[in-house]
Amino acid sequence: MSVDSAIQRGLHVMAKPIGPICNLDCHYCYYLHKEELYPGGERWRMPDETLAAYIRQFIDAQPPTAEEITFAWQGGEPTLLGLEFFRHVVKIQQEFRPAGTRIVNTLQTNGILLDDAWCEFFAAEKFLVGLSIDGPAELHNEFRVDRKRQGPFSAVMSALKKLKQHRVEFNILTVVHRGNGDHGERVYTYLRDNGVEFLQFIPLVEKRGVGRHGEPRGVSRGDGDRQWDDRVSSRSVRPAQFGRFLTSVFDEWIKRDVGRVFVQIFDEALAAWSGLEPSLCVFRKRCGRALAMEHNGDLYSCDHFVEPAYRLGNIHELPIVQLANLPQQQDFGNAKETTLPQYCRACSVRFACNGECPKNRFIETPDGESGLNYLCAGYKLFFQHIDPVMKQMAEEVRRGRPAANVMQQLRQARRTNQPAGNVASSLPSAAASSPGQRTPSRQSPGRNDPCPCGSGRKAKKCCYAR
Ligand code: SF4
Ligand code: SF4
Repeated sequence: MSVDSAIQRGLHVMAKPIGPICNLDCHYCYYLHKEELYPGGERWRMPDETLAAYIRQFIDAQPPTAEEITFAWQGGEPTLLGLEFFRHVVKIQQEFRPAGTRIVNTLQTNGILLDDAWCEFFAAEKFLVGLSIDGPAELHNEFRVDRKRQGPFSAVMSALKKLKQHRVEFNILTVVHRGNGDHGERVYTYLRDNGVEFLQFIPLVEKRGVGRHGEPRGVSRGDGDRQWDDRVSSRSVRPAQFGRFLTSVFDEWIKRDVGRVFVQIFDEALAAWSGLEPSLCVFRKRCGRALAMEHNGDLYSCDHFVEPAYRLGNIHELPIVQLANLPQQQDFGNAKETTLPQYCRACSVRFACNGECPKNRFIETPDGESGLNYLCAGYKLFFQHIDPVMKQMAEEVRRGRPAANVMQQLRQARRTNQPAGNVASSLPSAAASSPGQRTPSRQSPGRNDPCPCGSGRKAKKCCYAR
């Protein structure tokens, strides 16, 4: 089918070749209940003709100048499909691969099934594997369980060991929830000391009634970080708790890990402080170029909106590139910017945050406007905290020097004039390195000072409540 030349190419699709089927039953999984979308004894396996159509269409949906095309496989648990399925994937990709183009595969797994055969395959085919680990045993097993309610920690650590043994490229995805949310430094150092070099932290935000397992009802609204408890599940990370998690990881990271351990949100922040648009959809002004595809070829606006209202169509009816350019999808992506509350528009860290993901925008601003992100207080806390260091890093990069230089500068600053306390705030200002950006405050507030999140309450009654 010919494609209109005005159509925009270049998009990302998270493919679900086994739908929501998984060998774990994690309390917080937002995808398991998608079984309800396809009732009636659905066969949860992408048929060969859908797989071939998807691979061909996805390659066709990339710009002709693309040197690398990345396929993302997720679930459910994609390894339940077996190794042969992915051998077949690689074979079809090679058939359709345009000359001079490199195909990359990423696969997100809970690690339960990873053995030597899987890891040899990943290494040989250069898969980038995402492994889910939420921290040391008791933190990992808190909400991640199998159907017998057993924690899978030992299996995931064995998977980590095998990935390292076989030199598979991998990163760790950590869900930050209420159970591990007060242990940022511990989670980070645990993973780092186990040889992890690439990390992503994903905040758990479940609007009430969305999770699979029941959670207590009738939580009254309190002050500060508990203010929105009645809107979310009891597992969800609290806003400032998430901010504190990230700041504690950041403070540990800048002591000795810059340039050798890579934390996705820190990379995104450095891009923002360098005047670039972040690459992750949640921090960009607009979104809508990261779609999700179910096992039967149904294409949805986003992995977080796999719902009937956001079904764009099926790839057997219309090619992916056309579905992704439908007006409804363009509206979906533009809405991220057009629905931003005034409070965000005036925010000093908007350039880095951009109101984060619309799925989390369900609270009100201090002046009562709806559509503020539930995590706002946490993001403000975090982005304001890292501001001085980020300015310095961006300046190093601008001068063609490694961002890691900042560690030495911090050590010097601490030796000369800063006895203790907040590591990030011990760095002298990198003045005028970010023209046009308002400078957020650099110090944690006193307990009786106004909270930096802008709520109008005292810090001790708000984000710094203990
Ligand atoms: S809705 Fe959220 S996760 Fe989905 S594309 Fe937009 S920003 Fe990304
Ligand atoms: S920190 Fe809060 S106010 Fe600022 S852009 Fe993000 S969500 Fe909006």
